[in-house]
Amino acid sequence: MSRSTKHSDPHFKRIRNAMNRESYANPGTRCRRCGLTLAERRMTKPNDIWSCGHPDAPGDRGYAPEHRSCNSQLAAQQTNDKRIGFNAGL
Ligand SMILES: [Zn+2]
Repeated sequence: MSRSTKHSDPHFKRIRNAMNRESYANPGTRCRRCGLTLAERRMTKPNDIWSCGHPDAPGDRGYAPEHRSCNSQLAAQQTNDKRIGFNAGL
């Protein structure tokens, strides 16, 4: 499976690297998806890390810090939505 083009875009890589640095440097950084800090999130997901979220959901504005688990949950949800639409013949 090939990596998505948005992840190999040099512009995105620069944003992601800067955002990850800032997210780890500031313990008060909150996830766009769940609103928790990394320390709060790790109480239930001990191995979670910061991930640079794309504007994927309605209402999202630009890139924002998201927990990797929140980010992949959204991606899975969107895939499921597409499958449901496909199966329903929409
Ligand atoms: Zn989160």
